[in-house]
Amino acid sequence: MTPPGSAGRGGLPRVSRIPAVAVLLLVLVVIMAVGLAFGLSPGTTEAPTDLDLGVRAVGYAGGGPARYSRAEMAALASPLPGDAVSVDVPVLMYHYVDAAPPPAGPYADGLTVRTPDFIEEMDYLVEQGYHTVTLADAYLAMAGLQPLPDKAVALTFDDGGLDNYEVAFPILKQRRLTGTFFVITKTVGAEGQMTWDQLREMAAAGMSIQSHTFSHPGLTGVSDARLESELADSRSAIAEAVGEPGYVLCYPSGAYDDRVIEAARSAGYVMAVTTDGGASLSPGAVFEITRARVRAFLPLGGFATLVE
Ligand SMILES: [Zn+2]
Repeated sequence: MTPPGSAGRGGLPRVSRIPAVAVLLLVLVVIMAVGLAFGLSPGTTEAPTDLDLGVRAVGYAGGGPARYSRAEMAALASPLPGDAVSVDVPVLMYHYVDAAPPPAGPYADGLTVRTPDFIEEMDYLVEQGYHTVTLADAYLAMAGLQPLPDKAVALTFDDGGLDNYEVAFPILKQRRLTGTFFVITKTVGAEGQMTWDQLREMAAAGMSIQSHTFSHPGLTGVSDARLESELADSRSAIAEAVGEPGYVLCYPSGAYDDRVIEAARSAGYVMAVTTDGGASLSPGAVFEITRARVRAFLPLGGFATLVE
């Protein structure tokens, strides 16, 4: 606690002017340092920028969590360069992973990959030498900033169900795999949904937490104002709560058109995923990224075909 040189203070009244000036300077430095420390404390009301947030964002390239550089974070906030290239990364779409479907409507059964099947699928990826990447990794590879590992595949999970944290996350973590989780920010923390604490824990373990809008409306049918708030509010909520910049949007029910794409671009996203099938990630279609749906009770042979 005692700063070096402060012992000299006791002799202040008897010493010449020069040490007195030095003591005054020391006091000023201490005051400035204290002010600076308070200015940088978490209590500050200044909003962090995307680049600041990027320092805390994590990626996961198979060998362990790795932070993106500032240049990479800047790229994730910018359109792809003119010389961007296509990459071969199958993007798989999951919703629920559990022993039984949640009480979430008539489609939940078909959208719930049962736990033993999911374990078998993840073990298959590991055994066959696949490497899971986030969509940010794929984007940086398209931009020429980062090489992709061999046999790269991206796992995505829609809707933010609690099973994603309780069932899928431990299975992924145990195998050092990563996934991108699209959450509906209005319902984060609601019954049957993941909480912000859980999402922060997942992000710290290398998972990517991204936007599935604020309240999951069909975006092609909402007003311009609602469209803008659905995209911006969810993006800023995730940035504030999880510390991860929103770079990819997941269209609710796969509904999008040119107006929705333009709004997503304006809100700061650099890509978006659909529910349409297909495999290739090309620079000309970053707001129409296709995904392969992993159906409930899909035989392992069928799963193998999806990632080939
Ligand atoms: Zn959805």
